[in-house]
Amino acid sequence: MNTKSITRASLRLRKARLHHRLVDSQGNPEITACPEPVAVVLAEKQRLETLLWRSNRAVRAYCACSRMIVEASEELELLRRVCSTMVDTVGYRMAWIGTLADDPGKTVQPIAQAGFAQGYLEKAPISWADNDRGRGPTGVAARTGEPVACRNMLTDPRLLPWREEAARRGYASSLALPLKAKDKLFAILTLYACEPDAFEGDEFDLLVELASTLAFGIDALRVALERKEAAQALLQNEIRLRALYESMNEGLCVHDLIYDQAGQPVDYRILEVNPKYEKILGIPRDQAVGSLASALYRMEQPPFLQIFASVLETGEPAYFETYFDPLDLHFRISAFCPNPGHVAVLFNDITKRRKAEEDLKRLNDHLEQRVSEQTIALQSAKEIAETANRAKSAFLANMSHEIRTPMNGILGMTTLALKRELPEDVREFLQLVQQAGHSLLDIINDILDISRIEAGKVTLDMHPFQLDNVVASALKPLEIAARQKGITFQYSIEPDVPNDCLGDSGRLRQLLTNVAGNAVKFTSRGSVVVTVRSLEPEDSNKAKLLFIVKDEGIGIPQKNLRSIFENFEQVHTPAHLKHGGTGLGLAISKALAEMMGGTIQVESQLGEGSTFSFTVAFNAVESRAEAPRQVPSQARTQATPLNILLAEDDRISSMFASNVLKSWGHQVETVEDGQKALEKLRTEQFDLVLMDALMPVMDGMQTTELIRSGQAGDPHIFIVALTAFALQGDRERFLAAGMDEYISKPINLEELRLVLEKAHSAATRNTPASPSHTVLRAPFIAKS
Ligand code: ADP
Repeated sequence: MNTKSITRASLRLRKARLHHRLVDSQGNPEITACPEPVAVVLAEKQRLETLLWRSNRAVRAYCACSRMIVEASEELELLRRVCSTMVDTVGYRMAWIGTLADDPGKTVQPIAQAGFAQGYLEKAPISWADNDRGRGPTGVAARTGEPVACRNMLTDPRLLPWREEAARRGYASSLALPLKAKDKLFAILTLYACEPDAFEGDEFDLLVELASTLAFGIDALRVALERKEAAQALLQNEIRLRALYESMNEGLCVHDLIYDQAGQPVDYRILEVNPKYEKILGIPRDQAVGSLASALYRMEQPPFLQIFASVLETGEPAYFETYFDPLDLHFRISAFCPNPGHVAVLFNDITKRRKAEEDLKRLNDHLEQRVSEQTIALQSAKEIAETANRAKSAFLANMSHEIRTPMNGILGMTTLALKRELPEDVREFLQLVQQAGHSLLDIINDILDISRIEAGKVTLDMHPFQLDNVVASALKPLEIAARQKGITFQYSIEPDVPNDCLGDSGRLRQLLTNVAGNAVKFTSRGSVVVTVRSLEPEDSNKAKLLFIVKDEGIGIPQKNLRSIFENFEQVHTPAHLKHGGTGLGLAISKALAEMMGGTIQVESQLGEGSTFSFTVAFNAVESRAEAPRQVPSQARTQATPLNILLAEDDRISSMFASNVLKSWGHQVETVEDGQKALEKLRTEQFDLVLMDALMPVMDGMQTTELIRSGQAGDPHIFIVALTAFALQGDRERFLAAGMDEYISKPINLEELRLVLEKAHSAATRNTPASPSHTVLRAPFIAKS
């Protein structure tokens, strides 16, 4: 409460009373010397009483409001009570307080009001703008910040907009008092009295004083409120921080560093610790707070002193992990500077984690060692397996070669013998020998194939081919076999099947022969039907074909439908076993179908027949591939005689080949090794050399190399490898060594014929027509 203002106000009041006694209503000194009539005296008395009454009214207002201001705790409530007091206790007709709205009309918005208003403020709104509605005392006071009174609302022209409403409510004069806190106007208190000239002299002064006290009180209330709010926020903050501090999972301690006279850090004092600190370090707070670190931790040099000093010096926080010997614990520490001179340290006990890491590392090292041991073991196992694999491949190649050479002899000699006049029973025996020989060759081929497939050594030999030719070449022999057995054999290729394909025709032929061959083999009456269909391919560049081989043979039991596609698996019924076989054909077929992007499957009923179907995918070829040149056999047997050098160490093979060649009208010279072949070439002229690969003294490869380097006869002479090396890749190997063609043993006579024709065409291309039909090459130039 502004006691000073109250004191000043009472003084003024006393002065006013004195003044009223000595001056008239216009302020002129009273003429006490003149005798007065009674009426004048009475009038003066009444005037003075009115003045007194008014002064009393103002004093009452001041006192009541002052008390309220002192007791107030809430701003709006205070303003309302002030308005009520002005009306109820003091006796004004109406009182209201309005704030200055920052709206377009700059209206003065009532926030507290008392007395006889009856919608006065709403009907005749008041503005603080400089316009008609702002010219009344409230508007002017709002703009100027000064108190403004209106002596007579019914005559004052500024009050015109409100006159009527004011008259209706009995307002005769008014006073607008600005309420300012720290020189900033925040509201206007406007009072209305029933009589004109109400707010004059002392009353005016006292009410101005009251307004100033009220504004001061409100400002004080606001400041108190702000303080209260700030204190509450602070308290909340502190509660939060305290909770955090208490519940923190990290130990916290705050240190005050101590320096010696030279400015060197020597120790630090513990200022504060949290409960986690107590728990981790096992040191009670009472013992820690206020102690010197050196004493508390019993260390001559307190822990991490230099790091903390550097944090303080640079202001840069420090993070580190360390082992704390006195407690045998590992810590992760963050040190920072919360305020000048202090270092706060947050720390975590990471001993368990560290131990786990160490265990993990040990385990890791152990595992790494195990892995490297295993790797070495695996490496050596791999090397052993590779060596074994190489040995197996070498064995297979060797076996293949060794078996094919005598088979060549057996089959060749049988063929030659069968060309002779023979007694019927001998012919039949020889035919059986030939048949058995071919079966044996098939078995060998199957065994070699399956081992090479399993070793992943079989690759497809992609080339353009015509499907109808391949299908025919696979099925024609079977058709003959079927006819001989008295069963029907039909095959068809549906019209939409593309004929020009790119793929491995040899492997397709093998696959089809296996499956259709089984059908013929296991059917003794009824029919075998082969159909080739086109399927919708997954890839538009491919042709997907479906081969269906349906027979009316002995069928397959349900339980064997899967197993027959595995190596060496056969159905063990007497009817099946009587047909023999190795159980490899379908395993090879399955592998080949899968290599060609397809699958194979079977449906069968025992005793009723089987349907095998397989799919293969080929790359489609746009133009029709050129059909292999088919020369009528008759024409070929009558080909121009050639002068042939046959280098072959195996006597039987040599006999067979020279016999066949001579029977076709060619001249043949035979030698048993490469060395002799070179000698022959140096002295005689030949059209071609049929060169065995494996020969004593000098093998076929080496001999070819010497011929090609010009060391014996024509370096360009046509050389054909005639060899029992018949595995995949062998052909390429011989061609790469400089040979022109390759024939595998046992010799296929058709193949031999074609190769001779090639040799003849090559010789004709290279040599101008010669008078001698036997020598087709350039004259021989002997080497020295
Ligand atoms: P192989 O015919 O040389 O024994 P395969 O692998 O070709 O070997 O066939 C495995 C077995 O499946 C045959 O032995 C036979 O028992 C059975 N099998 C295959 N095709 C047929 C078929 N069309 N009809 C009846 N059984 C068959």
